[in-house]
Amino acid sequence: MADPPSDTYSQSNILPPPSVLRHVVDAHCHPTDTVIQPASMDKLPIKICAMATRVSDQAKVADLATAYPTKVVPCFGYHPWFTHWVTLHQNVSKEQHYRSLFLRACSNSEPPKHYDTFQSMLPTLPDPISLSSLISTLRSNLVAFPHAMLGEVGLDRSARVPVHPDATPRILSPFTIPLEHQTAILMAQLEIAVELHRNVSLHDVKAHQATLDLLRGMSETHKENWWAISVDLHSCGVSPEMWKDIERTQPNVFLSLSICINSRSQNHVALIKSCSPGRILVESDIHDIDYCAPYTWSMIKIIADVKGWRVEEQWDYDDEKSTQQEKWGAVRRLEHNWRAFERGNHPSPLKPKKPEWVAGGNRKSRMRVAKDRNEWVSDNSEPDN
Ligand SMILES: [Zn+2]
Repeated sequence: MADPPSDTYSQSNILPPPSVLRHVVDAHCHPTDTVIQPASMDKLPIKICAMATRVSDQAKVADLATAYPTKVVPCFGYHPWFTHWVTLHQNVSKEQHYRSLFLRACSNSEPPKHYDTFQSMLPTLPDPISLSSLISTLRSNLVAFPHAMLGEVGLDRSARVPVHPDATPRILSPFTIPLEHQTAILMAQLEIAVELHRNVSLHDVKAHQATLDLLRGMSETHKENWWAISVDLHSCGVSPEMWKDIERTQPNVFLSLSICINSRSQNHVALIKSCSPGRILVESDIHDIDYCAPYTWSMIKIIADVKGWRVEEQWDYDDEKSTQQEKWGAVRRLEHNWRAFERGNHPSPLKPKKPEWVAGGNRKSRMRVAKDRNEWVSDNSEPDN
């Protein structure tokens, strides 16, 4: 989630005609965080993936997708910033629950000011909701919308819990949410995504290694069922080296970049350079629907610039141009990537062991035997571009 844009921003960013914009998908935004005017939705020229984040906004996302089915891909899920409201245990009191998260290292030597902060925050914190009830709501929302994704979910090592959940400006407490708690809630949601075959929008802030471990773990546990769904690592600040490693070993993971988050860091140009042309998506990560198109468009222009792709000023694809990928502009390429993301069913990064390892029969039958025995070896070859 990003800060509000400046008012001058959209005016300085001239958009192409609707014939081009209708091929653009904003892979990650938060329109239900503000009041949405119907006029804004009516004039929205692109498709958006609208994220839910907490208990109170799942229904808002559902309502938006119901009202604008061709413009909105609904995304249901629980963001790491709000996972302290969720309990993994039955029959714990509110105080026990929040103590176990925030004062877990508390001993007699704990600084009293943290304890005082805890005591003053406790009345403003909601009663914790059980993970099982949250998962059952998630399941029914995903079932109700067959094209819905899981999002926004993920891990965040740097977020601190606000002293009061609703007060503005937000005053941050010293408390963070333990990573193992966040991971348990994320894993439970990812299991539903695998079961229902849904793509994922994944948040990772300062938790790159934990995220990578988790992706590897899901690969090992679910194999084909994991690679059947796509995962969008959204507005993520991984290093180019780490991204290359993810791309090589995780065939179902895409990278989406936003001008709000990624362009704040010098890393983003190197990250775009390191990303295969077929694995990159765009997003706004913004909560004001009026800015989704201009922010997404700005990111398209940055990517086009770094990759040396032309930017379509009109939709000029005849039959010949459509078949020649080298003539495609940035919008067409990113639309192609979005479709691959949406479709899923990515190739396995593992190869069956060489048929020679299984004796007897012809090559085909040896391959089959190796596959049936589930004898797989890791494929460390370079990815196809
Ligand atoms: Zn977000």
